[in-house]
Amino acid sequence: MVTEVVKINRDSMDAKLIQKAGRILQNGGLVAFPTETVYGLGANALDVDGAKKTYGVKGRPADNPLIVHIAHYDDLKEIAQNIAPVAEKLAKVFWPGPLTMIFEKRALVPLGTTGGLDTVAVRMPKDKIALALIEAGGGYVSAPSANISGRPSPTLAEHVLEDLDGKIEMIVDGGAVDMGVESTILDMTVQPPMILRPGFITAEMLEEVIGSVALNRERLEESDSKPKAPGMKYRHYAPKGSLSIIEGDLPMEVSAIQKLVKEKQKEGKRVAVIATDETVALYPDGIVKNLGSRKEVAGIAGNLYRILRELDQEEVEFIYSESIPQEGIGIAVMNRLEKAAGFKRISAETILL
Ligand code: AMP
Ligand code: MG
Repeated sequence: MVTEVVKINRDSMDAKLIQKAGRILQNGGLVAFPTETVYGLGANALDVDGAKKTYGVKGRPADNPLIVHIAHYDDLKEIAQNIAPVAEKLAKVFWPGPLTMIFEKRALVPLGTTGGLDTVAVRMPKDKIALALIEAGGGYVSAPSANISGRPSPTLAEHVLEDLDGKIEMIVDGGAVDMGVESTILDMTVQPPMILRPGFITAEMLEEVIGSVALNRERLEESDSKPKAPGMKYRHYAPKGSLSIIEGDLPMEVSAIQKLVKEKQKEGKRVAVIATDETVALYPDGIVKNLGSRKEVAGIAGNLYRILRELDQEEVEFIYSESIPQEGIGIAVMNRLEKAAGFKRISAETILL
């Protein structure tokens, strides 16, 4: 299959191209497109074969459900039931935007799309291209991140091409995404609603609208048996090299990383450091990547996946990353970084002993 790449300008969208992409979806094909979070791999969410193809090209385990994307609030009622008033409130405030909510599903949604679950995850994205494409594609578009399962999520059309060239019909190139970290997932089928995946919309922001929400920290950690968001059990976002997160206060983290880099270089290994604006000048050795300023954690979120992919291209064998404070969006950033590291954490203090 030849993958067609089409550039679309968000501010003067070519309606014909959107229609063409929409027809591919309606005919059971796959189209990758930008959302404000990451690039999604779109398929008709109401078509079992669309889901099958999606799992196939991503190499995604079939029990890891897809998020259904809609363009109009009223469409939610066609695919979900028992929608609580608090969910309506959240939708009013955060849709379109990076919030996914989980509801009891209606029969219209095939089990193939929900990984066999009787619940469905739904989001209305904010990106104009995404909204136009969902509408053109029939209104219900499943869209997991448009990467090979387990690799860092794509924040540029080039990343999608790297993973899926020749496997899907079309990539809509809308340039760099806005946020760079996947949506917050909130389970509305439990009381209080529970955050299954942290994102740009934080617990504090949700609580301001509906009162208390639960954040089951266990779910964010490496977990074993049957997690509620089945996707959480898989190693994710991972670079090819061995990534470790160094923990301590910042000066200790820096000293520990300096020491680790020297040691690995002595062994003849290719080593990289993931640093921040505030520390980048302190690493004389190794390949040094800068996530951005610690005062702008949203910017750090936007750079993370691109940097992980760059480290793959540079064939780095060992990667040491500083920690980011777990506040606000920092919670989502550390969640992705920990998963990318396969939960490998090293205390700076132990290294410096
Ligand atoms: P992705 O689209 O690749 O960013 O991943 C979607 C995430 O949503 C995965 O972690 C899924 O496990 C989660 N998810 C989707 N649908 C459901 C659902 N019905 N119940 C729980 N988690 C879900
Ligand atoms: Mg994903």
